[in-house]
Amino acid sequence: MTRRQDTEVQHALVAFGANLPLGDAPPEATIASALAGLQAEGFELGRFSGLFRTPCFPAGAEPDYVNAAAQFFLPRRIDAAGVLAALHRVEAGFGRERQLRWGMRTLDLDLLALGDSVLPDARTQDRWRLLLPEEQLRAAPDQLIVPHPRLQDRAFVLVPLAVVAPDWVHPRLGLTVTDMLAALPEGERRAVVAL
Ligand code: ADP
Ligand code: MG
Repeated sequence: MTRRQDTEVQHALVAFGANLPLGDAPPEATIASALAGLQAEGFELGRFSGLFRTPCFPAGAEPDYVNAAAQFFLPRRIDAAGVLAALHRVEAGFGRERQLRWGMRTLDLDLLALGDSVLPDARTQDRWRLLLPEEQLRAAPDQLIVPHPRLQDRAFVLVPLAVVAPDWVHPRLGLTVTDMLAALPEGERRAVVAL
């Protein structure tokens, strides 16, 4: 997966999601602009999944989501906090207002993984990953958790991720993206459709 032999680059896996237009721009255009915005932040694009459409979660009255994933090469001098700050700058530039958790959003950028880093530590990642669904609704981490604690549960993350990094191994689960996707119910996988 590493494109260069040296130790000066690391790869970052990023998820994109949007379900509201931003002015005249539909979610598809917002995601394309966010991809360009991250490249302007110094993220060098490795692979992009293309766009997928997903029924909204939790099920309700909202418009469907557009989802995507990308693999980037980053200089090692950018640490995980720096990556998240860049994601938040790009989100803010596209009208994301952080108020309602899992609420409608013009743009959501999640840092899925940074190589095989586990942050802030294995015990904390495990605790957030193993949170019960009802606790997930109440509690949001105030610190960066890597790998993203919900990635293994979400078809709308894993289906696009399987296009860009099918062989990435989750450092706590020991499973590839392909393995994690195969573990989800077929109906959830089939709901995520390429645009
Ligand atoms: P979700 O990421 O589950 O879709 P949100 O986008 O509302 O939900 O994020 C909730 C909080 O999780 C954010 O305030 C963010 O700072 C924090 N967070 C912790 N780890 C990560 C990560 N790896 N990527 C993105 N956000 C993260
Ligand atoms: Mg998020």
